Amino acid sequence: MSRADQAEREAVLRPPSIDRMANWPSLQPLIDRAGRALVVEALRDWAAAKRGSADVIDQDACLRWCEAKLAHLVEPSQRRVFNLTGTVLHTNLGRALLAEEAIQAAVEAMRSPTTLEYDVTSGRRGERDHHIAPWLTRLTGAEAATAVNNNAAAVLLALSALAAGKEVIVSRGELIEIGGAFRIPDIMTHAGCRLIEVGTTNRTHLSDYAAAISPETAAIMKVHPSNYAVTGFAKAVPASELASLAHARGLPVIEDLGSGTLVDLETWGLPHEPTAREAIAAGVDLVTFSGDKLLGGPQAGLIVGRRNLVDRIVRNPMKRAMRLDKLRLAALEATLRLYADPARLVERLPTVRALARPTSEIRALAERLLPALARAVGADTHVAVEPVRSQIGSGALPVDLLPSFALALRSGKLDRLAQAFRGLPVPVIGRMRDGALYFDLRTLDDEQGFVDQLERLDVVAH
Ligand SMILES: *Cc1c(COP(=O)(O)O)cnc(C)c1O
Repeated sequence: MSRADQAEREAVLRPPSIDRMANWPSLQPLIDRAGRALVVEALRDWAAAKRGSADVIDQDACLRWCEAKLAHLVEPSQRRVFNLTGTVLHTNLGRALLAEEAIQAAVEAMRSPTTLEYDVTSGRRGERDHHIAPWLTRLTGAEAATAVNNNAAAVLLALSALAAGKEVIVSRGELIEIGGAFRIPDIMTHAGCRLIEVGTTNRTHLSDYAAAISPETAAIMKVHPSNYAVTGFAKAVPASELASLAHARGLPVIEDLGSGTLVDLETWGLPHEPTAREAIAAGVDLVTFSGDKLLGGPQAGLIVGRRNLVDRIVRNPMKRAMRLDKLRLAALEATLRLYADPARLVERLPTVRALARPTSEIRALAERLLPALARAVGADTHVAVEPVRSQIGSGALPVDLLPSFALALRSGKLDRLAQAFRGLPVPVIGRMRDGALYFDLRTLDDEQGFVDQLERLDVVAH
């Protein structure tokens, strides 16, 4: 019997122990990367799968098996992607990209103890809101401010703190659902409030609100319709009129601004989107909005308004369950500080940069990329530079689309093509529409990184 035959016989009769296998030289680099415990786990599966077979001692096959088994554990599950969907603030792709200043601030806060809730002057306990509240009041004109985990939490907390057990009046045209099961009527229920609907889907008048006010009313609420628009024969009551009515009856107005911006987008030639300052100036008593939508910061729910109302919110026990950690507070403070110099926002804040990016620049980028992309996809895919319209996303300006340019890919195997792009080291996510795969280049910042990985595109394998 040859030596190889003998080894095979022995492998079947007496397979090597898991410990012996874990010492195989071919496995050592994987053990360095993944740790011994995970590799031993994979080896057990291998030994079980190959029980009774001589293959069990095939070290190369074993290594490939273990690598495949552990791939999803060795690599981070949340990976970087190219968002070329045409939606700038894409909720599923993580919304706003942070400014370098915010990234640095978060990194510093991660590395060291900080003054999160500590006052170095007095040596006493400090308030975590003090890092951001002065910025929020300065930027919105409100008396007081606080922040929680996200805008959904801000709305829930505001309603719970100010209106639990009582009635809140909302127009039927504003009883919205936004993605991820956030529905205003459900939030009301969970906050312990009774929703009083007024008006109709398309038209609500001031008199509708006035007629609904009762001794049980705790607040009037206004909600930014976000991801849909009522056009045509439509009427909503402006915040200033609602505020006059509410204040005359001793009630507050709460407004969920949704995306909520701190600067007028018209500065960059974009359609108007209500700012938090405008809402406060109109007399709204409490405004909530998101940190990671148009504001361009980390996920957060910002609450600004009258001091007595903000105080009630801060004192509510639910606030503690929704508070921000030091990383996000650091990033949020750094983001808000950028707004002190609006003229430089375009260069410093990625969200504003993407929204304000000139169409001519996007077109030039598309034309530069066209040859490399056409080479990568091969002759049976047609590639062209085409005008498209990008969306802001996350509920801002649902109908106003920004003129942009895309690389449009057309072929008989579009699904496989899209899959091949998603299979790249940095997955490229486009948008399928009208029988084409579009890569909207408004949000492509890393041109070289995109080009460099094109040679690894494997359309055939998909
Ligand atoms: C986006 C949005 C929310 C939820 O905000 P998150 O920060 O995602 O929790 C609530 N209301 C409106 C109107 C929105 O547009």
